[in-house]
Amino acid sequence: MQKKIAVYPGSFDPITNGHADLIDRVSKLSIFDELIVLIAINPTKAPRFKLEERIEMVNAAIQPYPNVTIDQYSGLTAHYALEHGACAIVRGLRELMDFEKEFQMALMNRQIAPQVDTLFMMANIKYAHLSSSLIMEVVQMGWENIGDEKLSEMVPSVVVKMLRRKFQHEGE
Ligand code: ADP
Repeated sequence: MQKKIAVYPGSFDPITNGHADLIDRVSKLSIFDELIVLIAINPTKAPRFKLEERIEMVNAAIQPYPNVTIDQYSGLTAHYALEHGACAIVRGLRELMDFEKEFQMALMNRQIAPQVDTLFMMANIKYAHLSSSLIMEVVQMGWENIGDEKLSEMVPSVVVKMLRRKFQHEGE
């Protein structure tokens, strides 16, 4: 039988505990055999973390899950899903703002690849306020006064280390 593959695309710039929680929950859904976390390479966006750094942090975060793999792609997620025989694209929903953008994107993806469905996962209430950009803003302004324990409530431990490294260097 054909493997049921889901793709979870995103910038993961950086990966947060909200992303990681979603990966954890999708990895346990019996409707999929495999989940591919797809790091989007978007030439119109200037990422805060280099692609190699984002690969490193996502790789560390998916270590506990044998059915989760990582890939990168610079085209449309719908095309990637078709090329890799995936049946679903997974996205996370935090609040109303996400809904409007995600709804439009899901319909566009359906138009491009009608056989690939979009599955929305509600954010975990513990992490529903977390976005990569807000975390970066907070850390940038106050990294000296935010302890590792506090940061660990927002991002995986590998990202805590990378954030420290990044801001220590930039502050030098
Ligand atoms: P993109 O640039 O594609 O939006 P992101 O890395 O910001 O990439 O997000 C990837 C996906 O993860 C999106 O569907 C987003 O809604 C979802 N997501 C982001 N943060 C959270 C969170 N805290 N909880 C649940 N889902 C989230």
